[in-house]
Amino acid sequence: MDAQVQTRPAVLILLGPPGAGKGTQARMLEERFGLVQLSTGDLLRAAVAAGTEAGREAKAVMDAGGLVSDEIVIAILRDRLAQEDTASGVILDGFPRTSAQAEALDRLLEENGQQINAAISLEVEDAAMVTRISGRSTCATCGEGYHDSFKQPEKAGTCDKCGGSEFKRRADDNVETVASRLAAYHAQTAPLIAYYESRGVLRRVDAMGEIGAIAGALGEIVVAAR
Ligand code: AMP
Repeated sequence: MDAQVQTRPAVLILLGPPGAGKGTQARMLEERFGLVQLSTGDLLRAAVAAGTEAGREAKAVMDAGGLVSDEIVIAILRDRLAQEDTASGVILDGFPRTSAQAEALDRLLEENGQQINAAISLEVEDAAMVTRISGRSTCATCGEGYHDSFKQPEKAGTCDKCGGSEFKRRADDNVETVASRLAAYHAQTAPLIAYYESRGVLRRVDAMGEIGAIAGALGEIVVAAR
């Protein structure tokens, strides 16, 4: 972990379409800077698995590749931000996705005396997203992400991070749902790029390249923004 940048809490937002690499990069930033990754997708999948009321409502929307209601998502994020481990700084992965969520985040941060250090837009071409998404899997034990073409475990069938041997694929990582997820991104989330640009916190990163190079560019932004 980079000790010299551990002084102030940070709030970083990762913006980008499904498959842009938000989850992979958030995990790398978490490890490097001691920030906590908050993925509303992960929180919603946990709610679905636990069978909570919010999870039951969210499931059909997620399966269809739509956006879960602002009310549910904001409530889930508010609860997670109230937990102590987030005090040293967070990377928001997949939130906000609508203007109502962006405004709710502003209010939540204001209540906590925090502000957004950087909103990083991972810039990618839509055409590459279907290949990226349909090949991905995660370790069932530790959540490390892999890809059939771009990031295979060093030893086939064994997680590099924890040695686990079970991998899972997301139910919504299929060709049909990806099209809806991309459409939702362009209609509802992409306008947030202009919102954060007008606030002076937007940073753009070319995310079509190699994972390590993108992580390097993000690391520089984090160091400069704290
Ligand atoms: P993700 O893991 O970020 O790709 O999210 C998976 C799915 O969860 C999305 O396709 C949405 O259905 C739902 N979801 C995650 N985050 C949000 C959000 N901030 N607002 C609305 N729906 C969300």
